[in-house]
Amino acid sequence: MEGFALTKLLRCLFPSQLSSSCVFGFPYSTRNILPKTVSETKGCEGCPMRKLFPDNTFVAPQFPTGKDLVRIAIAEAAGEDEAKVGKPLVGGAGRWFDSFLRHAGIERSGLTIANCIQCRPPKNIFPTDSDARTYISKEEGKAAVEHCLDAHVYPLLASRDWRRVDLFGEKALRYIAGKTSGISHYRGAPLRFNIKGRELAGIATLHPALIARDQTMFPVVINDLKKSLEIAPENYNPTPSLETVRAFRPKKVALDIETKGFTKEILCVGFCAERYKAICVPFRGQYISEIKEILLNAEVLITHNGIQFDLPILFGALDIEW
Ligand code: SF4
Repeated sequence: MEGFALTKLLRCLFPSQLSSSCVFGFPYSTRNILPKTVSETKGCEGCPMRKLFPDNTFVAPQFPTGKDLVRIAIAEAAGEDEAKVGKPLVGGAGRWFDSFLRHAGIERSGLTIANCIQCRPPKNIFPTDSDARTYISKEEGKAAVEHCLDAHVYPLLASRDWRRVDLFGEKALRYIAGKTSGISHYRGAPLRFNIKGRELAGIATLHPALIARDQTMFPVVINDLKKSLEIAPENYNPTPSLETVRAFRPKKVALDIETKGFTKEILCVGFCAERYKAICVPFRGQYISEIKEILLNAEVLITHNGIQFDLPILFGALDIEW
């Protein structure tokens, strides 16, 4: 018994020696495996998706070729190309994912990559989505996702001290970080969460499939991937009084707008003229003319992707010549 425990410990200390035995509950080798079906995959036993689609490819998590297992990316579910190749985040969405990594200066070969579910749902409709009722019941859809997380994802996340977990899209945000209010609420913010007793930190950003349809937010994703997980000493004022906004007239100011969903309807404008100090001015009532005064008074405006998005929308709404 002691010898067995020691062998397990040694395997953990020397990951290159890992075999397919369970190590701290994680049931795979960190060597990448050849594609196989879900019915050939032990961890899928008892999952409603396996009962319905036994020949689905099991798209196992992809491990880095180096030894530096510190950063992991979690997306949603395998798509058509992933199921063909047996690797997560390849094909159309994968090309956008690779482009994110290139622009953010991250080596794909140094990343571990997984999905919330490791097989392709019909028409890429996630089993808990209401549209999935065409192929799975509500109860079984929920059970399938929980089974996949319990069998394949949570053990992987709990298996080591990941320095950073990048969550791509709403499903990863919900099922890994436990946040249910939507990606637009949490995108880009440092998150802390606990998986099976292990404290993890990460950032959620947009799914590459979304960027494939609309590239407006591409720079935002790059920014999220490069963001520090450290929570800076903040002095943010999310509800400034009208007096505070009237007194805010810097010559050089950084700004960012928030719009409703992906429309042009402005909800608020964030301004920052000093490190760690920002105000968020609602785009309504008397605040609107103050926002215009801030812009007209400033000699230098700093934005991220502002030429393409923030400034044309903001200047248009305020009737400032562009
Ligand atoms: S959802 Fe997950 S556990 Fe279920 S069959 Fe697919 S890969 Fe296996």
